[in-house]
Amino acid sequence: MLLVQPPTKSGDSDETGGATAMTNEPIADRDSAQSETQPAAPVAATLRDEAFFIHRLSSKLVAAMGRLAAWPLLVALRRALLLSLPMVLVGAFAHFVNALLSFSFVEVLHPEVIDALRALCSTLVDGTFGLVSLVVVAGFSYSLAVLVSTRADRYPVNPASASVVALACFFIVVAPETLERWKDALSSSRGLPAALVVAISASYLFLFLARRPQFRLRLRGFGADPLVGDLFSILPAGMITLLVFAAVRQAQVSLGGADLTTALSSVISAPFAGAEPSAMVAAAYVLVRQSIWFLGGHGGNMLAPVLEQMMASANAASAAGVPTAFTWNFFPIYSAYGGSGSTLCLILALLYADREPAIRRLAWLSLLPAFINVNEPLLFGLPLILNPIYVVPFILIPLVQALIAYAATIGGLAPVADQMVPWTMPALFNGYLATGSPAGVVLQLASLAVGTVLYLPFVRVARRLRTASNAEAMRTLIAASESTEVMHGHRLIDLHGTAGHLAGVLARDLTDALASSDRLFLQYQPQVCIEERRVFGVEALLRWNHETYGFIPPSVTVALADDMHFADQLGEHVLRLACRQRAAWASSVPGDLIVSVNVSPLQLQDASFDRKVLRVLAEEKLDPHLVELEITESTSLAPAAQAIGALLRLRKAGVRIALDDFGMGHTSLHYLRELPLDTLKIDRSLTFTSQGDLNEHVIRSIVTLSRTLGLRAVVEGIEQPEQLPRFIDLGCARFQGYLFSRPLESGPCLDYILANAGIAA
Ligand code: C2E
Ligand code: MG
Ligand code: MG
Repeated sequence: MLLVQPPTKSGDSDETGGATAMTNEPIADRDSAQSETQPAAPVAATLRDEAFFIHRLSSKLVAAMGRLAAWPLLVALRRALLLSLPMVLVGAFAHFVNALLSFSFVEVLHPEVIDALRALCSTLVDGTFGLVSLVVVAGFSYSLAVLVSTRADRYPVNPASASVVALACFFIVVAPETLERWKDALSSSRGLPAALVVAISASYLFLFLARRPQFRLRLRGFGADPLVGDLFSILPAGMITLLVFAAVRQAQVSLGGADLTTALSSVISAPFAGAEPSAMVAAAYVLVRQSIWFLGGHGGNMLAPVLEQMMASANAASAAGVPTAFTWNFFPIYSAYGGSGSTLCLILALLYADREPAIRRLAWLSLLPAFINVNEPLLFGLPLILNPIYVVPFILIPLVQALIAYAATIGGLAPVADQMVPWTMPALFNGYLATGSPAGVVLQLASLAVGTVLYLPFVRVARRLRTASNAEAMRTLIAASESTEVMHGHRLIDLHGTAGHLAGVLARDLTDALASSDRLFLQYQPQVCIEERRVFGVEALLRWNHETYGFIPPSVTVALADDMHFADQLGEHVLRLACRQRAAWASSVPGDLIVSVNVSPLQLQDASFDRKVLRVLAEEKLDPHLVELEITESTSLAPAAQAIGALLRLRKAGVRIALDDFGMGHTSLHYLRELPLDTLKIDRSLTFTSQGDLNEHVIRSIVTLSRTLGLRAVVEGIEQPEQLPRFIDLGCARFQGYLFSRPLESGPCLDYILANAGIAA
């Protein structure tokens, strides 16, 4: 009877261990998490665990937030603010360096150097923060134009022209009279509300008009560059938009009203007008500021007029002898560590509770900017903005911290932060400078601890939801990678939603994995001949152990390599590893043991495919007769003449060719005749046969056919002992399947080969 069985370590059921003596009974292979990668199983388990959890976590809120977050206005707003990120980072750093220059330790430098550095820093600050409003106007209109247009748009609007029109409207409406007011209007501190109002209204009006045929000039075939036609066609819409904004401006001037920047300042601060400084007022300010941030606006800058007003009342109260906690520094020092939302606390919570490398990298990356109170990397990177999981802590933690600090200061437990400190001074350090006392730092530390602890449960919830959503996305990717659509050129990275996003992330990581490579490796699945009672070959199977997502099925890995146009590099890498392994086994395994390597359809389309294969074989010093290339049925439908030519040349050089997954339905029998084949691998889908059923007839025909054509037939995917006798009766002798062994690492695979290498009867 059958002599081949999976090896087991003595006293150990793990088949990755050493081989044992053969028995006469087939022993079905057991599960081995180590030796075989089964991404779908953990995915399913995670999904089950998380499904209940997600349900409980008010899925309605999550869905509503998702819809809100996808609203083009908010998406464009987020993107506009995100576009200012590089400027904000550079500006904040320059601001921080400028602040350092006023410390006495800097005096070791020559005064001229200090002056030059100061000048450089203020130029950088003016050129970055000083222009944030412009970036927001241009970025918003551009992003909105991109978002509202589709590929099949009948009336496309060039997004750059939307930016130009919105910027012009901004200058028309805002146009202050003095240079100082210009600076205000363009900067991030006071100009942002007006910039947003103009950006939103001008962009929507312009896009509304530009996408209507009655407002477009029809100039088909105008000029060599299609852009010329595009730009002329939106001319009427652009002119009308500009005229509307000019009329608004003229009305304001004629009626003697305040300019937009000033008018908006008054509107925003109106609810706080005359409010006495109190815990309630502080709470209301933080609540509104955080809510604006959460929606994507710059809460601090938009509420600058409110803060000014609060400070005026606080100063008046203090002059009248009423104790007050409020100073300019109260909020930045005590309730916004590392930027609004107390993002420093969130970073610490992420570093403590989230193991996902990408999230940890983001947290580490955000740490430095957070120390100088810039929180945009985390706000937009995580993201925090419009993220339903973080809405509660993002709004409430700074509020709790402000109230704690208010009580501690009023109660005399902590000093008032009454010294001016630049806003980019690092956390804790700024606490000392602003209060002149270590007690200020202690209060900050206490607040930091409270904030971090309060963020922790939300970090854990976010992690679980992310795992569930990744698992779902991975299932979609697996299904897509195994579908015929991928064979017809549909790309995983073009999929919509989370799956497409995941594909993009994986595709980029695959490029790195291919370069560094210890996460990209091969397992080997023995192929057995029951007549000769031995292992006659092994199939090399690609494994990618991703640092975040675990084992990625080879179908996904290969499809992603196709998407990124490095199928040939990945294929060459696999071939090289397999050949190297077979060469390393040379002195241990039977001399004719064959190593099979899968070839993807795109690899075969490469005109130099055969030369590359032979080069690798030569470099790895492996006899071509010991290598079998497995092409799939779909592969064989690829550009036939050239592929067949390459396969013929390879076969002439001694390389064996197998047709994989035969019977899945793509192959025309014609190809069986055309392709230079040695082996037919009968697909696992045909192995579930019962006496007299269709599969049995198909297999019988395939076996007869392969015999007629002089091909070797290998049955894939044999799992159950009951399946074997039927195949043996049908005339099959060569098998590959879990019944004998799962794919194994090279060491255990060698043990298996050695334990099952004999020809003895
Ligand atoms: P394949 O070439 O048909 O490889 C056999 C697949 O069936 C392997 O899955 C193997 O683990 C699995 N298998 C073997 N015996 C059994 C069994 O008894 N039951 C079940 N349920 N499955 C069994 P794997 O490793 O996930 O590979 C899937 C496919 O991915 C391969 O199918 C092959 O088409 C492709 N692939 C794997 N490695 C590579 C590679 O390096 N390059 C290319 N282009 N494709 C690869
Ligand atoms: Mg194969
Ligand atoms: Mg197969």
